Amino acid sequence: KNRVLAVQDLHVSFTTYGGEVKAVRGVNFHLNKGETLAIVGESGCGKSVTSQSIMRLIPDPPGRITNGSIEFNGQDLLHLSEKEMRSVRGKDISMIFQDPMTALNPTLTIGEQIMEGIMQHESISKKGASEKAVDMLNLVGIPHPEERLKQYPHQFSGGMRQRIVIAMALVCQPDVLIADEPTTALDVTIQAQILELFKEVQRKTGVSIILITHDLGVVAQVADRIAVMYAGKIVEEGTRREIFYHPQHPYTKGLLKSVPRLDLDGAELIPIAGSPPDLFSPPAGCPFAARCDYAMEVCDRVYPAKTELSGDHHVDCWLQDPRAKAMLSTISYNI
Ligand code: SF4
Ligand code: MG
Repeated sequence: KNRVLAVQDLHVSFTTYGGEVKAVRGVNFHLNKGETLAIVGESGCGKSVTSQSIMRLIPDPPGRITNGSIEFNGQDLLHLSEKEMRSVRGKDISMIFQDPMTALNPTLTIGEQIMEGIMQHESISKKGASEKAVDMLNLVGIPHPEERLKQYPHQFSGGMRQRIVIAMALVCQPDVLIADEPTTALDVTIQAQILELFKEVQRKTGVSIILITHDLGVVAQVADRIAVMYAGKIVEEGTRREIFYHPQHPYTKGLLKSVPRLDLDGAELIPIAGSPPDLFSPPAGCPFAARCDYAMEVCDRVYPAKTELSGDHHVDCWLQDPRAKAMLSTISYNI
C-alpha cells in the first residue's frame, strides 16, 4: 500500500582472515512512501552494510547476504539477476555517499555526467537530456544552470558538488534515495543547507529517503522515523518525536547525550564508555550489556525480544519487557 520497501530478517557476513564477521544480524524495517527514515549508529554498526545490501553492492566475496528478503515494488531484490539489478540501481533506487568527489568524474563536465545518467536508463534525445539536466540543477538550487553544465567538478565548492550528486541521483525519478552520511564531509552551515535541500526535493518529487548517519543532529532536522542500530541489529525504532523525547533503549539515550545536536546548542556531550562487541563472535545476550548501566543477569544470557511500546515505537531491551521479572527468577534454571 503505502510501503515502498521492506527489509526482513537481513543477515550479512564477511569472511576475513580472522573469521566470519556477522555485520548485520537480523534487521527488519520498512520505508513508507514520501518519508525519510534515518538509520543511526556508530561506525561499524552495520548501517552502511544494510544500505549496500539494498543496492546489492556487497562485494561477494568477502561479503555475503546469508538470509532475508528486501521487498521492493512487489519483488524481492535478493532474487533479481545482476542484469535486472542494474536497471533498478539509479533508476528505481539511487544512492549517494559521503564524499561527492568519488561520485563525480573529474574529466567530464557536470552536464555530460548528468546526461549520461539519464541516457543510461531512458531513450531520450541529447537535447531532451540536456533540458532535463538543466531542470535538475534548478531543482537542487544551482544558479545559472545552462552555464554551469559546461563546467567540471573542480569548479564547484564541496556543497555545490553534493548538490550535483543529489541531482544525478534524482534524475531518473527514483522511488527511493539512499544517502549514506551525505553531509559528513561538509561544514556545519553547508550541512544544514543540504539537509534542507533533501526536505525540499522530497516535497517536490515525493521520493522516499533512507538517511544513514552517525549524527543525531542531522536526523533531528529531517527524519520522520529513526531506526537505531547497534552491533548489527536495530535496537530501537520510532518516530523522530519518540526517539528524541521518549527514548527507551539505554544505547539510544547514550547516543542522545553523546552526539552534538543542532536543536540542543551548547549541551554538554557525554561519550558512551566502552566499545561495541566484536562481531566475530557476537554475544548471545544483549550486545550493549557490557556498556549498559542497567544490565541485569538476563541481559548477558538472552537477547531481548522486540517490545512494542506503541504502534510505531519498539525496542529490544529487557527493561521494557514485562517478562523480564519472570526471567529473573527462573533464569538460572531454564536458560
Ligand atoms: Fe541494558 Fe539489558 Fe536493555 Fe541491553 S537489554 S540495553 S543490557 S538493560
Ligand atoms: Mg558507513
